[in-house]
Amino acid sequence: MNEQLKQDQQNQGELLQTAVHAATKFLATLPDRKAAVFPQTPTNRPDLPETGLGATVALQNFRERFEAGLSGSAGPRYLGFVTGGSTPAALLGDWLASTYDQNPTADEDSIAPHVEQEAIHWLRQLFGLPEEFVGTFVSGATMSNFVGLAQARQWLGQQQSINVAEDGLWGIRPFPILAATPHASSKKALAMLGLGRQAITPVPTLPNREAMDVAALAEILTTLDQPAVVIASGGTVNTVDFDDLQAIAELKQKHNFWLHLDAAFGGFAACSPQFAHLLAGQTAADSITIDAHKWLNVPYDSAMTFSRHPELQLAVFQNSAVYLGEMGEHPSLVHWTPQNSRRFRALPAWMSLLAYGRSGYQDIVERNCAQARWLSEQIAQSDQFELLAPVRLNCVCFTVAKANSLAEIQAFLAKLRDDGRVYLTQTVYQGQPAIRAAFSNWQTEQRDVEICWQALSELVTKKSYA
Ligand SMILES: *Cc1c(COP(=O)(O)O)cnc(C)c1O
Repeated sequence: MNEQLKQDQQNQGELLQTAVHAATKFLATLPDRKAAVFPQTPTNRPDLPETGLGATVALQNFRERFEAGLSGSAGPRYLGFVTGGSTPAALLGDWLASTYDQNPTADEDSIAPHVEQEAIHWLRQLFGLPEEFVGTFVSGATMSNFVGLAQARQWLGQQQSINVAEDGLWGIRPFPILAATPHASSKKALAMLGLGRQAITPVPTLPNREAMDVAALAEILTTLDQPAVVIASGGTVNTVDFDDLQAIAELKQKHNFWLHLDAAFGGFAACSPQFAHLLAGQTAADSITIDAHKWLNVPYDSAMTFSRHPELQLAVFQNSAVYLGEMGEHPSLVHWTPQNSRRFRALPAWMSLLAYGRSGYQDIVERNCAQARWLSEQIAQSDQFELLAPVRLNCVCFTVAKANSLAEIQAFLAKLRDDGRVYLTQTVYQGQPAIRAAFSNWQTEQRDVEICWQALSELVTKKSYA
């Protein structure tokens, strides 16, 4: 055995202690760390060492050269995108997932797949999804949208007597894909599926909303002479608007379409009686995307994909090979998603769900939503900012009152980032350059929102962005 490997093997316990030390220190300074750090491209890139330096030196080297450049995205005032942190139990689960290093896609050599299915069982209960939804972990909501839309494609092929998974798209007649405000990742999924980003036929939205005009959808469906796919939003990223899933579900009685629901973070509305109504009708969906590394507050990379059509999911993703065993009555996880081998991704979710339970997640969701509401109230009362949409859940969509261009918004956000107290990201909402503040971290407290508001108010009056 290589000398460094042998030494590290002998010192493994001590090495892990140094990791505990580094991690504890990082977590302790997280609330004061800059929420985001613009990355400086390293100027000197050392060569690969011929003789390794050992894990202790490698860790030292990393910390010296890179730790200061890490963002505080796991912390309480990173409000960009929709980024969650990691609960203490989730972090513990993630560390151990690496330690155990199980591959849950095989089902003969480890209990890991059963832990995953237990986590899925709890998640179904958390989200109010009936047992008929099969669930699998994937790397993120983009991949979940891919898995859902791959099944939609398989189903559409079936309607035309074409098995797309076996014979490809060669003979298929183009079919309508309808959506009002789809997330960019659904378009990416369509690109990966050979259907194309341009395949989406836009459905009009309600006036001044991002939600679908369902009456307009009904009209489009009436004119069609073939089955379609409808991509519904369970929480848009700008204004967290929800398509009326109940009304769309009713259309399913009359029209033949696959309903894919992207509820990457909006799915967590189900955790609170205050917000669960936003998802009424969700169980009519054929496939559902819900992210885990956002509001479940587990580390990257983690999301769930739910489906009411296991046979279609297996038709697309089956990986039959003799050494993997035939698909029996309970096909192993290798047959359900694009990944054949993967990490024990379910363990952080399993730990966190057991550690905090339904009420723990209800608290995170309600707290984050109250924080978004509070910030929106300050913005609504301010002359410096303009609120662009009512807060429906956990995001605030607003703009700088005097800003006329996206460049000005970008300059303001760069100032804000460099100040470090809070990190927010840009968007364009109904043609207007805008800012989003997304609350989805378990650590965020009222005090943090007040600091954010202070930073926003100070930097905007300085006009330092202009
Ligand atoms: C974040 C998000 C996605 C993509 O999620 P990743 O986990 O980054 O792949 C898809 N849809 C919606 C609505 C999202 O908010």
